[in-house]
Amino acid sequence: MSIRVIEIGGKGVRRADVEGKKIDIVVVPQNQLYCLERLVEFATQNLPIETKAVAFSSAGVIEAYDLIVNSPNVHWLDGERLASTVTKYCGQPAFVFNDMETAVTGMAELFPELSFFLGATWSSGIGERLYRKGFGIVSASEGGHTMVDFSPYARLCGCGMRGCIEAVAGGLSTIQRVVMETQTLGIVVSGNPCSFLDRAYQSGDKWAREVYGGIAVAMGVHLATILQFNLDLQAVVWKGTFAQHALRLPGIEQAIRASMRNHLMNHSWEAKLTFRLVPEPPEAIEDAESFIGAATLATNLLNL
Ligand SMILES: [Zn+2]
Repeated sequence: MSIRVIEIGGKGVRRADVEGKKIDIVVVPQNQLYCLERLVEFATQNLPIETKAVAFSSAGVIEAYDLIVNSPNVHWLDGERLASTVTKYCGQPAFVFNDMETAVTGMAELFPELSFFLGATWSSGIGERLYRKGFGIVSASEGGHTMVDFSPYARLCGCGMRGCIEAVAGGLSTIQRVVMETQTLGIVVSGNPCSFLDRAYQSGDKWAREVYGGIAVAMGVHLATILQFNLDLQAVVWKGTFAQHALRLPGIEQAIRASMRNHLMNHSWEAKLTFRLVPEPPEAIEDAESFIGAATLATNLLNL
């Protein structure tokens, strides 16, 4: 079943026609989109006749697969009934899905051997959903805002609380930390602060090792908590720029696992939880799992 998918991400808007796990050419808008009408035009442009529905993947709170209550990336979509507008415009059924739900549904398609996993976006922020085969996404979640640091000086999070895993280990907070640490030490940061951190870590610089050490301990505590609530959890499927870089550095996964073991009642539980990374370019299209997941969710709703 061919589904037109539009991904509204932090890096902009992209569209592709998707059939099962097959993603056709990804198209980006020629001009910047600045209002609902332009987005609807872009979403429905050159719609193949075999298209059965139009599906959007967007961050934020979405109601009834239609109303975007708030869109943290694209504020001019706040309060808009995007799906109804598209259906009125082109006559096709349309749905709007939360981007974590499309990503994790797509992960389930890419890793069919997993019956119960945590899908985690580790990027500027941290988003998580548990997925159980035969049931789907277990629940909405704000796992990125569970606390790992209870000290009064814990880092302030974008959500307004202190010490959330996102505030301790998220990419945005890591950039702030790198800027602060290097300023204090009189080190000049060149290029992207996270890439600078990775290079310093690989060179064995003490400050960079300490930054990653703190991140790994916090992530281990966080995963141990999730695991103790869900002892049959098999894997964490990671996506996101931060995960793709950090988890490929030597020693980081091991450090997270060591921290998990230290915070589990039974240390052997740690070994059961495997880490997977979604395929990234050049092997796959960027955010392929979101495109596949949005098409899967739309197909499921059409088949109801
Ligand atoms: Zn928070």
